[in-house]
Amino acid sequence: MDDINRSFMSKAACKGMDPEMFMPVRGENLKIRAAKQICRSCAVQTDCAEYGLQLSTMYDTHGIFGGLTRSERETILRERGRKMITWTGARLTKVPQ
Ligand code: SF4
Repeated sequence: MDDINRSFMSKAACKGMDPEMFMPVRGENLKIRAAKQICRSCAVQTDCAEYGLQLSTMYDTHGIFGGLTRSERETILRERGRKMITWTGARLTKVPQ
């Protein structure tokens, strides 16, 4: 487990909601808009967005964090000189026999 601070989650507007609402796939624009609208009203949106950005440098993340989509996180990370972890970009190492 990482040491990322998740204490903001107790104040999340999405607390108790179906997590699927925040996991739109490409092209599900209505779902994306609905999730972003909830995030805009969330008291911890900034904390959540930073959490998503931090998480994305460690794991292959999907879904909306703090109103940011995966591609928006990737853009912000690039501007910060950081790289998003992606499954396809993961380096596979051979397991010793
Ligand atoms: S910003 Fe959005 S995803 Fe993050 S805790 Fe708030 S409602 Fe949930």
